[in-house]
Amino acid sequence: YSEPVITVDGPSGAGKGTISVLLAKKLGWHFLDSGAIYRVLAIAAIHHQIPASDEAGLLPLASGLDVNFETSDIGTRTMLEGEDVSEAIRTEDVGSVASQIASLPAVREALLRRQRAFKQAPGLVADGRDMGTVVFPQAQVKIFLTASAEERAARRFNQLKDAGHDVSILRLLADIKARDERDANRSIAPLVPAEDALIIDSTHLSVTQVIEKIERFVDSKL
Ligand code: C5P
Repeated sequence: YSEPVITVDGPSGAGKGTISVLLAKKLGWHFLDSGAIYRVLAIAAIHHQIPASDEAGLLPLASGLDVNFETSDIGTRTMLEGEDVSEAIRTEDVGSVASQIASLPAVREALLRRQRAFKQAPGLVADGRDMGTVVFPQAQVKIFLTASAEERAARRFNQLKDAGHDVSILRLLADIKARDERDANRSIAPLVPAEDALIIDSTHLSVTQVIEKIERFVDSKL
């Protein structure tokens, strides 16, 4: 017997976070934001002034990473060594450092056990890049959620604008393409759909439409 897992993988900005949180809420299951773990590690590396390329220096930091997710009715707070880093981890710069760090095999290996510990009853929705391929290869339901780079940049632009940030959409598009390129071409755990994943292109779909597609797929699998 093993707790059921739904994996949601895909490139940045495809809506994995929104969709996974909604799905986990609907099912009453746990939620893993694996990208947040890489982002927290990026913040820790910046604090300790360890370069994103220093695999040997980052390894002890990854193994001992004191990260916690504290969930309440108002949402989830991400804590690093007891400090609230929920907002700090969301910047483009931290995302970029996270993606450089995420290309280091020893770092990924060091974070495996921590991610697998999220698989608890009654079930888990896991959001990331390699949830269905590496971290939870036995997952019963695998989703690969994608959207065009232009659509993802536009969504990110609107989010940032709503939050009062002044950003260039072209710069966002360039960042997204650079991150896609790095995530898809790294030698370890590259961003590819699992063989048994349902691929959903959300470019022209609403959140509700994506959820409906996933629910139909879940019903056919569980
Ligand atoms: O999903 P998010 O944008 O928060 O992830 C930040 C970075 O962490 C990604 O660009 C990716 O390089 C890395 N990541 C990863 N594997 C995961 C989740 C995130 O390599 N499962």
